[in-house]
Amino acid sequence: MTDLSGRVAVVTGGASGIGRATAVLLARSGAVVTVGDIREHAEDAALFAELAIRQQQCDVRRAADVARLVEAASDRGGGLHIVVSNAGVGLVKQIPDVTEEDWDACVDTNFKATFLLAKHAIPRLRAAGGGSIVVTASNAGLLPRAHDPVYSTSKMAVVALVRSLALCHARDKIRVNAVCPGPVGDTGMMNADLAAAADPAVAAQRFIDASPLARAYGRMITPEEVAQAILYLVSDAAAMVTGTAIAIDGGKSLGVPPAG
Ligand code: NAD
Repeated sequence: MTDLSGRVAVVTGGASGIGRATAVLLARSGAVVTVGDIREHAEDAALFAELAIRQQQCDVRRAADVARLVEAASDRGGGLHIVVSNAGVGLVKQIPDVTEEDWDACVDTNFKATFLLAKHAIPRLRAAGGGSIVVTASNAGLLPRAHDPVYSTSKMAVVALVRSLALCHARDKIRVNAVCPGPVGDTGMMNADLAAAADPAVAAQRFIDASPLARAYGRMITPEEVAQAILYLVSDAAAMVTGTAIAIDGGKSLGVPPAG
């Protein structure tokens, strides 16, 4: 079992879905975890208390909020070792219909926020003698999708930022990697997509069919399966892994699957 005792972690978007599963897994592995989210999920209170996970209100698009979150997380353990930049929002619209506000909301949450988090976390990770940043990108960060061009752009941009950060901060023993999931069930994002569909059951099957392994297993990927990859990336087992973007998408970003 991975032992993160003595490590201090911050997870954005940790009140729900992949971020929540990650916060729980990191805490169960021994880390002191602080979650930053734009909203607090009351249903997390009991489990989070049991695992000493602290929740802090944070809009990851706002520099002051991010600075406060990083400071609060670090203060709990006298340093910072693990940063998971996970908060994200979808945007299913074609470019002619995208407003400037739509663009800002999606790109700032999915891309600018990782810059803000890295900016405030890197000096603390460096002071701790090194650390690990993991960004939740998407299969759309590896291969753009026709139905959500702005979301895809924001995720490709964040993968580029991951690579640049990895290159610039290896000398500080700071590793920077991305996970590229999808389709992940039991998440706010997937639930919203399904709720917006004319027939949620048909839409869910379409998501499953687009991922060869999801199709083979007859189910979506779980938040816990993505969290396991994040746990590996923040652990000492990945000491020489940086600048990667690991697909946890059942092969969705490999190409066009065979028919049938
Ligand atoms: P989710 O909606 O369950 O979780 C996203 C969390 O981010 C929520 O708790 C939400 O409150 C928080 N958030 C949104 N805007 C924020 C802001 N401005 N400041 C702070 N917190 C904010 O969905 P999820 O699927 O768990 O999403 C987590 C990440 O996974 C996102 O980056 C998403 O793009 C990515 N992702 C999800 C899927 C999927 O199929 N669900 C696939 C690929 C990538």
